[in-house]
Amino acid sequence: MSGKLIIFSAPSGAGKSTIVQHVLGCGFNMAFSVSATSRAPRGSEVHGVDYYYLTPDEFRSKIRHNEFLEYEEVYPNSFYGTLRSEVERITGDGKNVVFDIDVLGGLNIKKQYDEQALALFIAPPSIEVLHQRLVSRGTDSPEMIAKRIGKAEFELSFAPQFDRVIVNDDLDKAKKEVEQAIREFLSK
Ligand code: 5GP
Repeated sequence: MSGKLIIFSAPSGAGKSTIVQHVLGCGFNMAFSVSATSRAPRGSEVHGVDYYYLTPDEFRSKIRHNEFLEYEEVYPNSFYGTLRSEVERITGDGKNVVFDIDVLGGLNIKKQYDEQALALFIAPPSIEVLHQRLVSRGTDSPEMIAKRIGKAEFELSFAPQFDRVIVNDDLDKAKKEVEQAIREFLSK
């Protein structure tokens, strides 16, 4: 397969999506891998742009037919996965692929693609700051926030397995660091 893979993983609320959006606008030759999920659309999310929204049955059928490069039950009963067809679509266009996926999925893809992939872990400055960010984002219930925090602590323990850990304590600085890491990786 031609094309390189750039993987972004982070605990929810670490600012990963903002950084991914920034990177996509930087003029690198890359496109976003739209994941499939069995969760319902949130807010202004659009099918085929943010995710491919599948029913649990559709998702299970694609698992059975080996259509996923990786998938995880990121939250109980909410499945997320990268479709092989999505990666083929982007690399077939001659582009590099950007992933915004959970920590286990990110490490899974890194293992499969090794030197062809750059795995970036975006870390929040602290769990307290992460909690504040999730509250201000206002998209999750307090119960969901508590779940995300518990998960964040678990996910942070995987940071050392990534190629680079970028602490997002200053968004502009984090964006620059990420840009630099990608530029180096793509020029290799
Ligand atoms: P959200 O529901 O907030 O959009 O996403 C929840 C989590 O699922 C995020 O950490 C996101 O990165 C992750 N995620 C999104 N797509 C995929 C995917 O294709 N595979 C895996 N393993 N995780 C994903």
